[in-house]
Amino acid sequence: MSLLEHLRGELADRESRALIRRRRTLETPCGPHAVVDGREMLSFCSNDYLGLAAHPALAAAIAEGVARWGGGSGASHLVSGHYSVHERLEARLANFTGCERALVFSTGYMVNMGVAAALVGRGDAIFADRLNHASLVDGALLSRAEHHRYAHGDTEALARLLTNSTARRKLIITDSVFSMDGDIAPLTELLALAEAHDAWLLVDDAHGFGVLGPQGRGALAAAGLAHWRLLVVGTLGKAAGLSGAFVAGHADVVEWLMQTMRTYIFTTGSPPALAHALLTAIDLIEHGDALRARLVAHQQQLRGALPLRRWQLMPSSTPIQPIKIGDNAAALGAATALWDAGQWVPAIRPPTVPPGTARLRISLSAAHTPDDITRLTDNLLRIEALQ
Ligand SMILES: *Cc1c(COP(=O)(O)O)cnc(C)c1O
Repeated sequence: MSLLEHLRGELADRESRALIRRRRTLETPCGPHAVVDGREMLSFCSNDYLGLAAHPALAAAIAEGVARWGGGSGASHLVSGHYSVHERLEARLANFTGCERALVFSTGYMVNMGVAAALVGRGDAIFADRLNHASLVDGALLSRAEHHRYAHGDTEALARLLTNSTARRKLIITDSVFSMDGDIAPLTELLALAEAHDAWLLVDDAHGFGVLGPQGRGALAAAGLAHWRLLVVGTLGKAAGLSGAFVAGHADVVEWLMQTMRTYIFTTGSPPALAHALLTAIDLIEHGDALRARLVAHQQQLRGALPLRRWQLMPSSTPIQPIKIGDNAAALGAATALWDAGQWVPAIRPPTVPPGTARLRISLSAAHTPDDITRLTDNLLRIEALQ
């Protein structure tokens, strides 16, 4: 059998098991009201928590950035692709997150693929929450350190693993807000464990940056945590509404990351025009208390309007509000029924979540209206009663 025939067989196999993924195509800018595959839909899918992705001030900032800086950066940061506007953005991000220094990357995936390997290697050990994002899992594998995964949020299990470890250097890795569950990691306890066992602590704040803490400074600011052994990753394609990411922490640690991270060194610097627009995005986040208040009101409205009987609204105080249904086909059926009613909510199934915990993943945005939330909760109650 040729390589191509083999691959076709694999695709057919996936098709037969209903595992083929298809992209829906949007014909309107990112927002709750979208034309999707030619249909007008109300969307609860995006990570655009503050509604900045299509904000006129950001569109204007991109245009201004392009007028000032043109298109691409032309090279990697360490060669000739690093501009004064990148410097300004890094200083702004460091100040905003309460860290000494920040380093800007093209995507969060790139940060997470490279950061563990800069801190640990063979003979060392990583301790990771079982529900961490895929990019953190891949980064841990790339580092070649031992990879221990502890049960979700279980600091006692983590403490036992740390106590039993004879590794030279240790690194604890966690999401701040878990992307499929919406709950928040026990960051204070994790830092205490990192202190007790002389480990690094890496926190991926993809879903907390812009949303949690005073002025949206993130999960660590919300918990009042700062330490030289603490590193935070923020992504700029979610609440910040654009694209890109950063890692921030103690100045010497960030200097080490810049010197050694392969996913920083061997890739083209992101466009300076993007950095220019991101400065505006951070301003909008900082002055976005009204947007965050709206988001919290949406969460409360949603939770108050869902006296579910068989489905379970999972505990979450973030804009990620999953409803656990359990059975894969039932979750898919619920998502299809919502779609037919003009509402777009993704069904998340294994292997993305553990078997038996298929769910609807609702994500809320400040760009939603109270009426949007009512339309969703009415439909959810109707569909649950039919199942
Ligand atoms: C989205 C996400 C990433 C990846 O960030 P990108 O900038 O989109 O590559 C990393 N970690 C978590 C937890 C995420 O949700």
